[in-house]
Amino acid sequence: PLVLVTAVNGFIASWTAKAFLDAGYNVRGTTRSAKSSHSMLEAEPFKSYASAGRFTIVQVPDITLPGAFDEAVRGCHAIAHTASPMSLNFSDPEPVINTAVKGVRSVLDSVHLSSGSGTSTMKSFVLLSSIAAVIGKKPEDNAAYRFTEADWDNVSQNEVARLGKQTPSMMIYKASKTAAERAMWDFQRDKKPTFTMTAVNPVYVWGPPVLFPENPEDLNITAKVVWTIFSGQEIPAPFGGSNGAVDVRDVARLILFAVQEKEKADNQRFIAASGVRSEQAVADILREAYPDRRDIIKEGTPGVGYLPDYSVPEDSPAVRIDNTKAVRVTGKEWISPKQSIIDAAKAFERYL
Ligand code: NDP
Repeated sequence: PLVLVTAVNGFIASWTAKAFLDAGYNVRGTTRSAKSSHSMLEAEPFKSYASAGRFTIVQVPDITLPGAFDEAVRGCHAIAHTASPMSLNFSDPEPVINTAVKGVRSVLDSVHLSSGSGTSTMKSFVLLSSIAAVIGKKPEDNAAYRFTEADWDNVSQNEVARLGKQTPSMMIYKASKTAAERAMWDFQRDKKPTFTMTAVNPVYVWGPPVLFPENPEDLNITAKVVWTIFSGQEIPAPFGGSNGAVDVRDVARLILFAVQEKEKADNQRFIAASGVRSEQAVADILREAYPDRRDIIKEGTPGVGYLPDYSVPEDSPAVRIDNTKAVRVTGKEWISPKQSIIDAAKAFERYL
């Protein structure tokens, strides 16, 4: 069976493509530029899969155009849609939200159109959404509230309406992910497709990449923190948004699950979160694992700001997230934050 992975050269999408290929699916990816396609097709394991005729890439330069995915979706059994704007420096909400939403609509409309002919092979659609579409205002009387898949972001839209071009970048991102996921469920409600639909909602994603940019400073925004600390730069301040972390391989595994076990995943959202992320913990873990880099990796304040099991302390104002549903439904535990950090550092040794 053939799976389409949009924005296949991305950090999470490239792992997703690998997960499908390793599981025996053929993968067709999309990228925005021939340059991204070329470098991915030159890198293992994609190079070997491409020579075996199991991995191809098509260009979709503008995901917002109607019909942009008409060719790409042809003959697909499943789609993992990951393409969406990602930046720390968004300034105008309108184009970001517009691109995220139109991307979802455009790929779904292409599938819908092709299924009109009665020849559609489509069985499942998975959207790489985000915890950003889940976390909203806590109930007033419950500071320890734990967000679950039943929750929806009920803040970003108002903030965008109130602040316009002054909206902080992270809030713009949040609004774009929420609107994009809503667009998917609206499609399901309105068009009642025969294929299954699933959203995967990860917190901050890290772990070892499968594709390596030439320059480590060009690593994906969220994967890069381990490199930053490993390479001896200042320990970054905690990243905005949720304070969780999840391994990229677990996100890919969940997307694969949503296709392989589509009945269990149909009409569901799955939060992907293994525990709390702490930049200080990265420094502590790496200083222990690499004694010869103790003079290089910044020390910070060892042990401060996180618990040994990476849970949220009782008295913390931090956001709490219920990460049990995916474990329950898939029967698999999360890769621990410590393992993600160690495996990422191991992968980054190539840059030392
Ligand atoms: P990457 O930056 O590694 O990849 C982003 C991909 O999206 C790239 O292929 C990029 O293409 C493509 N892209 C960006 N903007 C557009 C656009 N306007 N039109 C078409 N394609 C675009 O990011 P991640 O792997 O981290 O993120 C992928 C997805 O995962 C996104 O949907 C993101 O919202 C979601 N996500 C990420 C989390 C994280 O912590 N990293 C957490 C939760 C969700 P190009 O290479 O051409 O720039």
